[in-house]
Amino acid sequence: MGKRGVLIVFSGPSGVGKGTLKKRLLEEFEGQIVDSVSVTTREPREGELDGREYFFISRQEFERRVENNDFLEHAEFSGNCYGTPRENVVNLLSQGIDVVLEIDVQGARQVRKQMPDCVSIFILPPSFEELEHRLRERHTETEEKVLARLETAKREIPCAGEYDYQIVNNDLDAAYDRLRSVYMQAAHRT
Ligand code: 5GP
Repeated sequence: MGKRGVLIVFSGPSGVGKGTLKKRLLEEFEGQIVDSVSVTTREPREGELDGREYFFISRQEFERRVENNDFLEHAEFSGNCYGTPRENVVNLLSQGIDVVLEIDVQGARQVRKQMPDCVSIFILPPSFEELEHRLRERHTETEEKVLARLETAKREIPCAGEYDYQIVNNDLDAAYDRLRSVYMQAAHRT
């Protein structure tokens, strides 16, 4: 039997730069690791495409898929629902392709239960003040939503210890080097 892919669980508060880090990893290891496109009930942001960043669906459709047991994990985050479609992830792993899930803390707990051999990584900001600054700089959310995401971050950051690895994103290149070495170690594990 061929080697199974490695499942990487990637979390961190909104605005920490995990999207940028993940993108670099996917680009460097193209063909070896792929992203799982999640399903969400939130509205697309400017520039986001259905099927690329997320599959954007209604809450009713989301609930139908939960009932159908279509998700590997799912969670409500800042008033919206997010879920990882199970089938695609399972197929990729069985083909020996590594998969990265960029999901929240609640989702990560569900994945660890079902797939205990996953490798989990939490990205931390250098400080809470810096996170607030970055989140505002993005200009993608209303003030109300920025505050809600900061509140969520306050709850999420103390959960970093549940993860196999914690990486502080102070300097992007340094954080990426660390992520890269964690990934390469995980990919050569078996
Ligand atoms: P955003 O709305 O900024 O794209 O994502 C908000 C949060 O939802 C982020 O922490 C992101 O990692 C998380 N998230 C995205 N997709 C999923 C998913 O499929 N499942 C879970 N549990 N969280 C997700």
